[in-house]
Amino acid sequence: MARRRFTVRGVVQGVGFRPFVAGLARRLALVGFVRNDSGAVVIEVEGPEPVLDAFAGALTAELPPLAAIDSIAATAREPLGDSAFHIDPSAAAGGRRTSVPPDVATCAACLAELRDPHDRRFAYPFLNCTHCGPRFTIIESLPYDRATTTMRRFGMCDACRAEYEDPGNRRYHAEPTACPDCGPHVWFEGGATRVERAAAIDTARAWVHDGSIVALKGIGGFHLACDASHDAAVSELRRRKGRGDKPFALMAPSLDAVRRLCHVSDDEAAQLESRARPIVLVRRREGSGVSPHVAPGQDHLGVMLPYSPLHHLLVTDGPWVLTSGNRSDEPIARDNDEARTRLASLADAFLFHDRDIHAVCDDSVVRVARGAPLPIRRSRGFAPFPVRLPFEVPPVLAVGGELKATFCVAAGHDAYLSQHIGDMETVETLTAFERAVDHLLRLFDIAPSVVAVDHHPGYLSSQWGSAWAAARGLPVVRVQHHHAHHAAILAEHGIALDQQALGLIFDGTGYGLDGTVWGGEALAGGYTGIERAARLGLTPLPASDADVRHGFRLALAHLAAAGVEWDDDLPPVRACAPADRAVLARRFAQGIGMVGSSSMGRLFDAVASLCGVRHASAYEAQAAIELEAAARGIADDDAGVRYGFARVALGGPVEWLAAPLIHAIVDDVRAGVSIGRISARFHDAVARLGLQMARDARATEGVDIVGLSGGVFQNVRLLDRTVALLEADGFRVLTHRLVPPNDGGLSLGQAVYAAQSVRLPAAAPPAA
Ligand code: ZN
Ligand code: ZN
Ligand code: FE
Repeated sequence: MARRRFTVRGVVQGVGFRPFVAGLARRLALVGFVRNDSGAVVIEVEGPEPVLDAFAGALTAELPPLAAIDSIAATAREPLGDSAFHIDPSAAAGGRRTSVPPDVATCAACLAELRDPHDRRFAYPFLNCTHCGPRFTIIESLPYDRATTTMRRFGMCDACRAEYEDPGNRRYHAEPTACPDCGPHVWFEGGATRVERAAAIDTARAWVHDGSIVALKGIGGFHLACDASHDAAVSELRRRKGRGDKPFALMAPSLDAVRRLCHVSDDEAAQLESRARPIVLVRRREGSGVSPHVAPGQDHLGVMLPYSPLHHLLVTDGPWVLTSGNRSDEPIARDNDEARTRLASLADAFLFHDRDIHAVCDDSVVRVARGAPLPIRRSRGFAPFPVRLPFEVPPVLAVGGELKATFCVAAGHDAYLSQHIGDMETVETLTAFERAVDHLLRLFDIAPSVVAVDHHPGYLSSQWGSAWAAARGLPVVRVQHHHAHHAAILAEHGIALDQQALGLIFDGTGYGLDGTVWGGEALAGGYTGIERAARLGLTPLPASDADVRHGFRLALAHLAAAGVEWDDDLPPVRACAPADRAVLARRFAQGIGMVGSSSMGRLFDAVASLCGVRHASAYEAQAAIELEAAARGIADDDAGVRYGFARVALGGPVEWLAAPLIHAIVDDVRAGVSIGRISARFHDAVARLGLQMARDARATEGVDIVGLSGGVFQNVRLLDRTVALLEADGFRVLTHRLVPPNDGGLSLGQAVYAAQSVRLPAAAPPAA
């Protein structure tokens, strides 16, 4: 007889790992115990040596679907002669960290029960098991046990308890397990109507069918729902939310239903059906019956499949609009009272339930590029799953940027990115941000030793992070925006500390280190010690928020910079009222409210206006999205080579001026070349610019790894073309698969940058 102790780290709590271990030990007739520690799962097994070896092998080979092992340490112990194998109550918290699993969509076994009239959980909207259900959104602290979740107040009935304690049952130690006798319930409130349980779900569905807007409490917060084919309901929802033209997401009952709305590739289907159940952006079909108000002007729809039992019960025909329960610019509503107040003017009725949401978590959004997911928003189903770092870091808090904010807490080899917080522009969002920071720091027991913020002094996040650090006497590292994007793409791919790479960071805007606005950058270096090798030529751009929303002003600026007269035959000139034109001309002449900018995002806006796609954007990147869509189905042609950039090297970063490109586009516009053709040539030109920047870096610095990051690389046409050109030229190309290329991924880069800066004083950032 021998005894062995295994200490297992990774995603091993809340994923059915302990029941799996107990089942395995009993199958092999081993005695001992398994126990959750806050940092690991500890197993001790006793029996003949060969059987212990078999146990060790099966531990990794037969892992439950949601578990992921980072490390297993095995040590020999003195045999104790236990009489059986048992699951020990959780050890007290303290010390090391364990991953918290994300929320996972209802599994096939649970779904079968949900639809089985003879099952005791038939049509019960909160059924789950060890392989599915809510996790991150209901866990308050570790170790993960029912007592540390918002399920605490629901005492299990005898039947649920028996399943929970039966090692052979798939609900063995499923912490959120429940049934109609002992678990949470739904109820409907609308006007004078109040109904409970199954009737509440039928009533909510009927109200949606009749054209009402119903607030639904879900997994990570409230949604606002309406019938996606009901024009009046969708446009009313748009009006109430103050949403402009920004597209709404849909939930469709099945993959077949999605296929009736959209052209779905196999890779997109795989994303739709993945356990995270994100919103997937898929190309829409004509005449699908979806209201034109759902996604005006878009050739894609954001669609997701039901991911909780409640959704499966509600969205039976669909599709429904399911958009986050908030007014635009505010965080998503979380608890019932808050929803009653904040959503009163948005919803006609409410479908509530009494399981509390501890952490709000919006739906995630992905596109598919080159067969792989391209995260646009990483939130429910992913957060707080860590990004594994290739090196160890001290405890750090990185607060992110301003738009699409996330933050990151990292320590050791793990970088935990928060769920999507939203645009950090209001006090409400800041409050939600603070709450989420507290939750993640507590969950992973991390006490930051350094705080990373964006270099922009005006960002709410930078101010909050600096104050937070000051209150604790911690150093603050200010990280240049595009340096953070660069570090993020390297970290995501596990690039080693001493490795050099070129980051092509094509972005909207970020605060530069030289008083200009950056955004079309070729950055050479590792995680720190980053040099600006090249940039898009500096163009004086009108810089107010209103200017940026009005793409024709950016087009006029690029025309002026290229020395092209503002003639009436050009779309942006026609889009600008004569009086405005005079004001703008004076601003350009006197440099009023102008800033030098190398922004690639603004160049896309300008070109969208120049070829007549869109002159004003109601939401971020609208013009660029439509410009990409305009080129669909059009192949690159040789004539696009005329769309070049002029290379200027006068010491300092190489500048690539857009003037020749602007002239070529003007010529094509005047020659009546189609918008789609111009767009295709433009995308090709930007990809070739990336290739030229990379070739320069290889020639001067010997760099052969190229990372693509920044919000412009949400553009799949550009991404595909750039990757193809670079790979054909022998580069190793890194693209985002785990975190978004937009500012949602920024905090990861800030965290690793800051971690390296504090450990390598020589690489401290400029002006830190
Ligand atoms: Zn299940
Ligand atoms: Zn029960
Ligand atoms: Fe950015």
